[in-house]
Amino acid sequence: MPDLHDDAYWKQKLTPEQYSIMRCSSTEPPFTGKFYAHREKGTYVCAACGQELFSSDTKYESGSGWPSFWNAVAEDHVAFKPDDSHGMHRTEVVCSKCGSHLGHLFDDSTTPTGKDYCINSAALDFHT
Ligand code: FE
Repeated sequence: MPDLHDDAYWKQKLTPEQYSIMRCSSTEPPFTGKFYAHREKGTYVCAACGQELFSSDTKYESGSGWPSFWNAVAEDHVAFKPDDSHGMHRTEVVCSKCGSHLGHLFDDSTTPTGKDYCINSAALDFHT
């Protein structure tokens, strides 16, 4: 088992884009990621540690330009942190296993849960 708190491990394991997003909480530009318009049936997993995060059954078109999901595959597979950066009050979504930044949680009254998990494509891998 690698040391998930070791920065050198992540630098070697992740691409520079993934490292910047997942370990430094940056955000990919909207409408550029590989999954925002992805429609296949399957499971989205953490690109860093492989933990299952979101099902295609809860993926929807929010119009944001990032992949949006209205729920996680399991309540304890994601964790939340307050994020007051950039002059906004937001809720950061991280992988509960490796702590990597995934995106942000927003309210969205159009979804079954009232939530929008707005997630960077670069933080995800996909399998059917
Ligand atoms: Fe992870």
